[in-house]
Amino acid sequence: TLPEDQPAKGHPKQLYVLFFAEMWERFSFYGMKALLLAYMVTELKFDEPKGYAILGSYAALVYTMPMFGGMMADKFLGYRKAVLFGGILMTIGHLVLAVPADWSFFYGMAFIICGNGFFKPNISSLVGTLYAENDPRRDSGFSIFYMGINIGAALGGLLCGYVGQQINWHYGFGLAGIFMVLGLIVFYIGGKSLGERGLPPNPAQLKQGLFLGISREVFIYLGALALIPVIVALFHRYEIMDFLMFGLGALALLYILFVAFQLEKIARNKLFAALIMIVFSTMFWAFYEQNAGSLNLFAMRNVDMELAGVQLPPLSVNNFLPPAWVIILSFFFAWLWPALNRRNLEPSTPLKFGFSFLLLGAGFYLFYWSCQLSQETGLIPLYAFVAGYFFIICGEMCLSPIGLSMVTKLSPVKMVALMMGIWFFASAIGEFLAGKIGALMSVPKEVVDNPVLSLPYYADILSKIGIGSFAIGILLICCVPLIRKLMGEVR
Ligand code: GLN
Repeated sequence: TLPEDQPAKGHPKQLYVLFFAEMWERFSFYGMKALLLAYMVTELKFDEPKGYAILGSYAALVYTMPMFGGMMADKFLGYRKAVLFGGILMTIGHLVLAVPADWSFFYGMAFIICGNGFFKPNISSLVGTLYAENDPRRDSGFSIFYMGINIGAALGGLLCGYVGQQINWHYGFGLAGIFMVLGLIVFYIGGKSLGERGLPPNPAQLKQGLFLGISREVFIYLGALALIPVIVALFHRYEIMDFLMFGLGALALLYILFVAFQLEKIARNKLFAALIMIVFSTMFWAFYEQNAGSLNLFAMRNVDMELAGVQLPPLSVNNFLPPAWVIILSFFFAWLWPALNRRNLEPSTPLKFGFSFLLLGAGFYLFYWSCQLSQETGLIPLYAFVAGYFFIICGEMCLSPIGLSMVTKLSPVKMVALMMGIWFFASAIGEFLAGKIGALMSVPKEVVDNPVLSLPYYADILSKIGIGSFAIGILLICCVPLIRKLMGEVR
């Protein structure tokens, strides 16, 4: 049955509100991320391993917080209040980064981390509320939403990457902040059209005074703010992140298993299926996220950025390419899946996940090959860089948007936001590992300006990522029958 304010054809109009709010939020998020590592190693003069560790910790925390933000939304706030609060924190974070002072860097990142926790999983869950459970438009709704994410990311990477690297780092961060404000306004005004969706599950409980007349709602907000100095302290002692991430990973796994055993069999099996795919996705992100890390520095040092006599800005190119490919390929995949479906040939979700690793591996292997062929100059041709990303992003298209939809299909309704949080938490672990893998590509200071000498530092690890990715893909494809059995009637 369709909710009564939904059209029978096309997509609900609220999808476009969420689309634009998320688009501008991702503009600022990826605009800032494009600058992060290069800013640390060239401006703040961090050693490369330290730069990778801070980047990995930042990105890991960014995607850890959605677990808590998702839980808070499910139980108390509802999705909409959570998105609004998160958006405000993210805006503050981006604007703080624009301040050219020593203290601003870690504080700005800490605000973004907390804000993203409330914003990111809940806006995705809101998309899920627009469709009835078995509405065939759900997948394509998520693909459209994913397109919004990437239009934002492409513009953000392009503009902030350029302004930050070529003009002034803090202007780049500030530009990100301005667009976050725009996202917030879109959500604030457009959010009203969501009607009953995403409201707090129990408003009276939320307003209830807990202590000194302070309501539960305000307590949640204060709790989030109290985390900011804790996160800043963590950045200063980033070695602790190892324990934190693996500890949280183990706890999250135990918690889901605990919950799963209280469900009836069919629901439990579905949850297990989701969990297996989520665990695999960790490795996807660990490799994929070299994009925002090592590949930024690789683009600056070892890619021939000349196009028709013009030197292109490397950070812009590296951060524009992946989302640009997503946008182009979205059209292809939006055609491909239904076309295969009509012939009964559409791969199941776990098989798509398996393909995603093979494609990812192909992309990294292509980078490696280009390195081997470019040893004399130390610079790989731009077209090889563009082509490598083509394969990597075909891989992304088989995993990331499919995963969002999979989570909303396989999780019990009351757990959707939490499971969305767990989905992002898998990327948190992935991002953390990505930082570690990136650090293996640290280039000694003496050779950073000599492409011939810096190239081998990248080539070796790029080939290992390629091979590792193939191996995981094959393992996953072997698990497909098992996962499909657990999924029951869901494809
Ligand atoms: N690029 C996607 C986004 O920003 C996916 C990120 C992720 O799941 N780690 O939403």
